[in-house]
This record gives sequence, structure tokens and C-alpha cells, in this order.
Amino acid sequence: MRVLVVEDDRDLREQLKTALGDAGYAVDTADNGEDGQFLGETEPYDLVILDLGLPKVDGMTILKGWRSQGRSMPVLILSARDRWSEKVEGLDLGANDYLTKPFHMGELLARVRANVRRTSDQVSAVLESGDLMLNTATGQVTVGGQPIKLTAYQFKVLDYLMHHRGRIVSRAELTEKIYAQDHERDSNTIEVFIGILRRKIGTDRIVTEKGLGYRLVDPAAANG
Ligand code: CA
Repeated sequence: MRVLVVEDDRDLREQLKTALGDAGYAVDTADNGEDGQFLGETEPYDLVILDLGLPKVDGMTILKGWRSQGRSMPVLILSARDRWSEKVEGLDLGANDYLTKPFHMGELLARVRANVRRTSDQVSAVLESGDLMLNTATGQVTVGGQPIKLTAYQFKVLDYLMHHRGRIVSRAELTEKIYAQDHERDSNTIEVFIGILRRKIGTDRIVTEKGLGYRLVDPAAANG
């Protein structure tokens, strides 16, 4: 899952980047409205955290621009003031959620999870596919109740496939969703991650659709 943070306060931006990174998201940041707007127009984010008071272009204008272009990723607005009129304006412009500063990082992460989940029609923080479970809140993965140890990138790949289970996800899409913008990308490593994941969670859970990509399935359901 890939998240963009548009925030001009350096300390807060770094705190958000660290907390989201630790929670398994690939994070891009922008310290001004112009860069933030451009990234949101050109990169495929699963969620954007958008401050309202920004240098160059303000948050409301950015949001309005994205929505008028049909960019539909969830946007969580951060505001320094608890002004009800601003909340209404933001929500009417197409914001999905709203948080007033100062906030608790735990609450922000829960809201990020909830909004990401909603876009892929998941109702609970625990994603399930047969007896494979991934807890998006704790990062724990189990198969038949047994904990599975994954590295950060193996987790990112499985997390994305679990959020989109049943549908084909291309290697290019996975590559775009697990690496931040400044990270060197190599779609061949996706194949390596998939191979390791298959060994850890069971070979028949991730199906290769030739020339198209991968699909996470529940083998028990497919056979029955
Ligand atoms: Ca600001």
C-alpha cells in the first residue's frame, strides 16, 4: 500500500513518514502544495494525508483539483484548527476523513487502515482468505493459527494481494504499490517475493495468471 503525506511541518512530516513506514506502508512525502498536487496527479496512491495550510498551493485547492480530474484515492485531511465550516467544506470537496491537530498517531493509523480498507470493501482490520489471516493493525500473519514470519517487503506484497484478493494484480501494479517513489524498482524482485511467500503460506494460494499477474485465492474454497 502506498501513501502520500503532504505536510509542510517538518517534524510532523517525519513523524508521519516513520509511523506509516513502520506500519508497512510505502511512503512518499511533499513539503509544499505544488509538489504534493503533482505527486497526487501522477502516482497511484492508496491514500493521501493532506495538510490544509501549505506553501504554494493550499490543501483545499489541491483536493478540488484531484477530484475534478477524477482522482478518487481516499484523502485524509489534517487541519490545525477545529473549525466546523472547514470540515464541511473539505468533506464536500471529496475528503474521506478529517483529523484535527494535535492528534494521536494511533488514531491516525487506525483511520488510515479504515479508509484503505473501505476502498477494497474490507470491513475488518483482519483480512482472511480461508485459514490465512493478516491482521493489518498488528502486522501478524497466520496460517491455520500458526504465525508466519515475513520481512517488510514480503508483508507489503501479501498485504496488497490480500486487500485485492480474488482479482488479478499485475507485477507492475505490485511494484508501484510496495516501493516509495525514490526507491529503485525492479519488477523481477516481485517474482522472488512471490516465490518466498508461496513457500511460507502454501504454494496454491497465489496463482500465476500467465502474462497478467498474480491472484490470491483460497484453495479450499476453489476445490469445494
Ligand atoms: Ca501546514
